[in-house]
Amino acid sequence: MRVLVVGAGVIGLTTAYLLQREGVAVTVVDREPTAGAGASSVNGAQLSYSYVAPLADPAVLGKLASLLFDADSPLKFRPRLEPAQWAWGLAFLGACDRDRSRATTRALLGLSFLSRDVIERIVADERIECAFTRGGKLVVYPDAASVAHAREQLEFQAQLGCRQELLTREQCVAREPALAGYAERIAGGVWTRGEAAADCGAFCTALAELLVARGATLRLGETVLAIEAGDDGARVVTRSGKLDAERVVLANGSRAAELGRTAGLRLPVYPLKGYAVTLRQREPAFALRGSITDTRRKIVFAPLGERVRVAGFVELAGHDASLPQARIDALLRAAREVIGVEAHGDVQPWCGFRPSTPTSLPIVGASPRRSLVLNVGHGMLGWTLAGGSARLVVDTLLGREPPIDASAFAYGAV
Ligand SMILES: Cc1cc2nc3c(=O)[nH]c(=O)nc-3n(C[C@H](O)[C@H](O)[C@H](O)COP(=O)(O)OP(=O)(O)OC[C@H]3O[C@@H](n4cnc5c(N)ncnc54)[C@H](O)[C@@H]3O)c2cc1C
Repeated sequence: MRVLVVGAGVIGLTTAYLLQREGVAVTVVDREPTAGAGASSVNGAQLSYSYVAPLADPAVLGKLASLLFDADSPLKFRPRLEPAQWAWGLAFLGACDRDRSRATTRALLGLSFLSRDVIERIVADERIECAFTRGGKLVVYPDAASVAHAREQLEFQAQLGCRQELLTREQCVAREPALAGYAERIAGGVWTRGEAAADCGAFCTALAELLVARGATLRLGETVLAIEAGDDGARVVTRSGKLDAERVVLANGSRAAELGRTAGLRLPVYPLKGYAVTLRQREPAFALRGSITDTRRKIVFAPLGERVRVAGFVELAGHDASLPQARIDALLRAAREVIGVEAHGDVQPWCGFRPSTPTSLPIVGASPRRSLVLNVGHGMLGWTLAGGSARLVVDTLLGREPPIDASAFAYGAV
């Protein structure tokens, strides 16, 4: 079989890698001059297998006014004359329902546990150097109400196979000494052993090199304009011509809706912008042991060898790639106040676009066009979910039974 993958982010590359291992001839096309240059290049570096609850949660509705209008809110909505933005926002509000949020958590946990097996096996088998560590993850909460909500979620997830512990403030600091200067602002935390952190961009670069070394074709700097997908084969129209394939996998991240439309599909994927900086770790006694999420600011911290990745913010503002200094300063302030890390010189400010669906469920598997298979919409968790999603796509293409119930990710179900 000849398969063409559109998009050389972590989703497209992991799919291409698993396909190649099955003996499939793979071509990957990306408009950027290097592989892994989109949202996968930097991100928050967390492999958060047990923290997959969707953004759309009933608790969001009560806080909506402050989330939208507070000057330092982690969430920003910049209204645009763009029906897709409004439709996404309304569908998001509609998904803020407890039963729905729980069903989504259940489905995403199945996918993330599958992903853990796939990604960690690739990293080990191929000896990929991407600063992979399995130091666990600590999520800290600012007050009693948020700790109570976290306890409820922990009890729910315990029924689904998650092993998590509720920690006091003192236990949080004992677990992560870097939090010592922030203890006063922590009411408690949830700790999960076995969660990992790794450099997604380095993983992408390594996979791209492996793919090419083993005979795949990587067409970089080539923008796909349209996909013509029939029952017996597909044709991809690029700026420089046309490419034929038996099957096409759509994995083009936050641009999925526009390319899906050319094939007659409606994909509710919208870019949610976020920011990151990369700083040097503190001295060993206070270096991060695992990753941390501060829910007060909705900012994540992940160890990457001698560096720390600090990421956060969610902006519903289209593909505006500007880097406002206020956002970067807020990340640097968080690094200083929460984990005691000061910026020294180069902080490598970055922004990227999470390819997000209103429900936080990715769209993975068959589409109404037989020759077009989907792997899009992984939102806040694309690095975490890449392995499992790639596995489901490979099973779809090879006509095999998936190892988990994938119905929640079906086209039209999300
Ligand atoms: C600030 C931030 C923090 C994050 N933190 C985490 C985290 O800690 N853990 C986690 O699991 N996830 C995290 N994510 C989410 C994760 O980064 C994304 O979900 C993931 O990278 C999406 O991968 P992708 O391959 O779908 O998209 P991308 O990496 O964006 O790749 C899509 C590719 O498609 C290409 N493309 C688009 N359109 C076309 C076209 N028409 N023709 C050709 N090529 C095209 C693009 O150039 C791009 O290379 C974070 C994201 C952000 C922004």
